[in-house]
Amino acid sequence: MSVSQRVKSEEQFTRAMRVIPGGVNSPARAFGAVGGHPVVIDRGEGQYLYDIDGNRYIDLVGSWGPHILGHLHPRVMPRIEEALKKGTSFGAPTLVETELAELVADLVPCVEKVRMVNSGTEAGMSVIRLARGYTGRDKIIKFAGCYHGHVDSLLVQAGSGALTLGTPSSPGVPQGCTADTLVLEYNDIEQLKETFVQLGDQIAAVILEPVVGNMGVVLPEPGFLETVREVCTQHGSVFIMDEVMTGFRVALGGAQQRFDIAPDICMLGKVIGGGMPVGAYGGKAEIMDVISPVGSVYQAGTLSGNPIAMASGIATLECLRETDPYAELESKTRRLTQGLGAAAAKAGLPHTLAECGSMFTLFFNPEKVTSYAISAKNDTARFGRYFQGMLDRGIYLPCSQFEANFTSVMLTDDDIDHVIQAASEVLQEIG
Ligand SMILES: *Cc1c(COP(=O)(O)O)cnc(C)c1O
Repeated sequence: MSVSQRVKSEEQFTRAMRVIPGGVNSPARAFGAVGGHPVVIDRGEGQYLYDIDGNRYIDLVGSWGPHILGHLHPRVMPRIEEALKKGTSFGAPTLVETELAELVADLVPCVEKVRMVNSGTEAGMSVIRLARGYTGRDKIIKFAGCYHGHVDSLLVQAGSGALTLGTPSSPGVPQGCTADTLVLEYNDIEQLKETFVQLGDQIAAVILEPVVGNMGVVLPEPGFLETVREVCTQHGSVFIMDEVMTGFRVALGGAQQRFDIAPDICMLGKVIGGGMPVGAYGGKAEIMDVISPVGSVYQAGTLSGNPIAMASGIATLECLRETDPYAELESKTRRLTQGLGAAAAKAGLPHTLAECGSMFTLFFNPEKVTSYAISAKNDTARFGRYFQGMLDRGIYLPCSQFEANFTSVMLTDDDIDHVIQAASEVLQEIG
């Protein structure tokens, strides 16, 4: 299945660069960190992507998280087609909005009420405003290496895209916007406790990824999430879990279910839309009722709750609930990571692996990655060579060392063997 040539991709990407900044609509897709130009995709099918030259790739990106069911799932596509026949948008209440909200409230432990938006970024900006409005406080604690969308106040040491490009915070964000954002080290329990001792009564919210996916996969150390829960309860601060990546991914009820720790509010995205643009935030009714029109914290959206997107989300979540693929997906993923680990060890390459459910990262770093400070030491040049070698062998990986790989239910044992075989060759070559 090796990739012969990408002539059309080159041509068409060059064309795109004339009219789209960098040729991409999101910098995470650019190949700046790995060299060369992105592959231009024609279509997806199950666990595969096909580029416009007709090459096939095993997809370990899944549109950066949404496609836990793979592409064109037979349970999802008919629901989208059915919804399309009724019209694309009404800007008025529909049945499907309530259906998806009920599903989310049913599946995600902390959610009593939920508001739909169009992206994870929108969910991020909304929860920050909500937490501030609810508590009457301004300060937000975030953790280095966590990404919560390109929200001004949260674009400080923000992981993945920003990390990859070496711009931890962005020009164009006025200092005033981030003046109330405190950035702490992920997994540093003592630093968190000290910060609350000093500033507890000023802190509106703590926001975090319960399993980080945006500095590569980084798991919470034992006691870390528990401590966040504890200090937030003690000081009346809102605990926000950003489950845009982990929601319906690391367990049906997300990381809050997997680790059995309930936040006050959570953000959702990616899987919730099954590939359509959906974000959401939800949690305790008492807090959610502070948003307009019940309360006075304003948040709105012309296309929010879009019926086509809702249909895609409903079909995806219903399929996940009925088929409960999580245990099998996790053991498949483990077989894959064990194979990658063995291949890296055989090639004599310093590495560590991190995984949670169906997300994982092979770090070119000898040290266990528990924080941004450690992830910053990854050998990104070696990753670039690994990425290119895998791409040439028909394996589509995230184009950055600081992104999570995602597996889907469609991945077969043969696919996994193929990925491991390709990695064995590539890792030998780049050793
Ligand atoms: C992807 C992501 C976001 C942003 O979502 P968009 O839909 O890209 O705006 C926010 N938080 C986390 C944890 C993410 O992985």
